[in-house]
Amino acid sequence: MLAHVKERARQERYEAAHRVGPRGGTTPRIAERYVVAKNTRKSMRGNKAKDTKPELLVRQRLREAGLTGYRLQWKVPGRPDVAWPGKKVCIMVNGCFWHRCPHCNLPLPKSNVEYWIVKFERNVARDERNLQQLQEMGWTVHVIWECQLKKDTIDATMAELLPQLARELGKELQTGDAEA
Ligand SMILES: [Zn+2]
Repeated sequence: MLAHVKERARQERYEAAHRVGPRGGTTPRIAERYVVAKNTRKSMRGNKAKDTKPELLVRQRLREAGLTGYRLQWKVPGRPDVAWPGKKVCIMVNGCFWHRCPHCNLPLPKSNVEYWIVKFERNVARDERNLQQLQEMGWTVHVIWECQLKKDTIDATMAELLPQLARELGKELQTGDAEA
């Protein structure tokens, strides 16, 4: 019994001594890193979930423009948020933070920098891989960033995107009161 307790204490000391973070931190930092990792996975799933606000904005504009008939998260690389499989045209709506928007150039989080660098590099590499695969499969991919869907940017973004989409889909663009 006592030997068992002693052995456990020894093991705990050993583990504590060997748990060293990238910048020399010990147990608490590891715990923190773990929590971050867990939350991140949750957020990534959240990001991949349907019906995020930027995505809803895009779909609303598409419907208003008469560009309907799209499917959500079609089963091709990257699961495009909006896709017209028959025409092989899709839209990826990217969150600026997770996908490292080239327009925003958001700073890295201040703590656990190494963790975030690896994480973001992985995300960006995955995006590139998906984009390349889709293009090789003959898809036309439109990438829209969250920051291009803000109140003061969404009109310009859509003014550029919608006519292109209409052409690619062979559809008539329904313009409300815009220049027609
Ligand atoms: Zn952005």
